[in-house]
Formats: sequence, C-alpha cells, structure tokens
Amino acid sequence: VAGEVARLDGLLDWYAPRRGAYPWRRPNPDPYAVLVSEVMLQQTQAARVVPAFESFMARFPTVEALAGAPAAAVLRQWSGLGYNRRAVALSRAARAIARNHGGQVPRDPGALASLPGVGPYTASAVASFAYGSGVPAIDTNVRRILARVFHGLEPAEVPAGDVRLTAEEAVDRTDPGAWNQALMDLGREVCRARPRCQACPVAKGCWSAGMLSDPAARARPRQPPFEGSLRQVRGAVIRELAAAGDQSVRSLVRRTGHVADRIAFAVAALSAEGMVEADPAALDGRVEGRVRLAESG
Ligand code: SF4
Repeated sequence: VAGEVARLDGLLDWYAPRRGAYPWRRPNPDPYAVLVSEVMLQQTQAARVVPAFESFMARFPTVEALAGAPAAAVLRQWSGLGYNRRAVALSRAARAIARNHGGQVPRDPGALASLPGVGPYTASAVASFAYGSGVPAIDTNVRRILARVFHGLEPAEVPAGDVRLTAEEAVDRTDPGAWNQALMDLGREVCRARPRCQACPVAKGCWSAGMLSDPAARARPRQPPFEGSLRQVRGAVIRELAAAGDQSVRSLVRRTGHVADRIAFAVAALSAEGMVEADPAALDGRVEGRVRLAESG
C-alpha cells in the first residue's frame, strides 16, 4: 500500500497553497457550512458558488435557522443557483438533522447519505472535510485520476469496484479531507479529459503520464495488445510469482511496473497454458484477483 500511495507523492504539497481558495475550506470548518457548500457544488461551479454560499450562510447561519425557515424563503435565497430541488432537499435535510441528530450534522457517511439530497459522494465529502473521516470521495474527476495513476487506464476501462478499492487504500489517513479536495482540484485543473501531464505534480508516479497526450500512444491498438512485449510481461509475471509466491494482480502490477491490462492479458494467457493458477477475479482483470504458479507448471 505504501508503494501505491507514493504514486501520489507531491499531491498535498501542490494543494497547500490552494487550501484557502474557498470559504468552505477554512481550518476546522463548521460541518453545516461544509454540507451547504457541497450541496451547492453538486451542480454549480465553485466560482459561482462563492457569493451564493456567503449570502446563504449570512441568512441561515445555523442548522436551526435553516430548519426553522419556510421552504419559500430558502428557495428565494437559492435563486440564481438553479437546480432548485437542491434547496428543497437541503431545507428538509436541516429539519432531519434538527429532529434526529440534535442539530449536529452527522459524522457517519451512512447517516449523512440518509439525508435528503445527500448521495454517497456528498456524504463522503462532508465526512472527510468536516470531520476528517478517512473515506475517499469519488466523483468523475477522482475516478479519472485514480484510473490513470494506479491502473494506467482510462476510467471506463477499470471496474468501478477496483477504483473504489484503490481509493480506499490510497486515501491519506492523516488529512483525508485535504487529500480528497486536492484530487478534486487536480481533476479540475490538470488531469482533465485532456490531461496536462507536463504541469502535473504526480506525473512521476503516474502510469499514464504522457501517454494520453501522445497521439501515437493513443492510436496504438489495445487488442490484441503488445505482441512484441507480451513475452516480457509474461516473463516478469512468472519471475515475480517465483520470487514472492501467491499474490494479487495489484501486487503484480506494482512489482513488475506493467499496467493492469497487460498483466491481466498475460495472466489469462499463462493460465490457459497451465503455467499459472488464477482465481476468477484475476482472470476478469480485477486487481484484487490472486495468481500463483501452477503446481505442475
Ligand atoms: S500525469 Fe497526466 S494522466 Fe497522470 S495524473 Fe497527471 S495529468 Fe493525469
């Protein structure tokens, strides 16, 4: 895990000067303010959220103030941000917090996710930003970064469960809120659909660095992949299994330095030839799947 996390070395240093960029990122933030900001950010860009957030917080500074306000007043205050259903849901969430949680925004992601208008992403974001819970907040941007950095693939090529596992292992335990926010900033500013790898603070550890901006690399067919180098990947898999024994696809990826889809392809070929034994998850190309040398191989 330490080796994997090291792929994101440089992320928090890069984020440090951005830490104060928005009012909801203040140190020791009020969990209610974090909840309001996250609901606003669901469908609105951060720059537009700033003035709306500040006037909303001035009008409804506490859970109780929001819970006690008529829905029409909340909607009036929300106007301009659009997607008004969020305002209605937030007002209901405030009432549920006042009624069921003693006016305290809950810290448990499961309890958060049961509030109106709070999905799994917003729940994880609030739990980590407001309470420092070590949970990853995975949105489209974060999924894209993790797929590229840890798997050497685009997000559509990595099963969602694998990205989640990667995120759970990689999340920084000392400052998970900053880690989640840093990834979001990175996805918005650098690792976009068209990545700017030259300006990227984690390029050194990223398996996709430079690949996606290189038209020649993009044009290369993926299937059947890499006949020229498949032998090398197969050789590396056998070597690592012989040296370290039974291990996961993730570990093979880490130890050989080859990307996950190449490892999966080599494992499938070696398994078909009876050289290795792989469990169904490994044959499926999933990173938690396990592989070992065949007894008779
Ligand atoms: S090096 Fe490129 S692909 Fe990798 S995280 Fe940075 S911007 Fe994204």
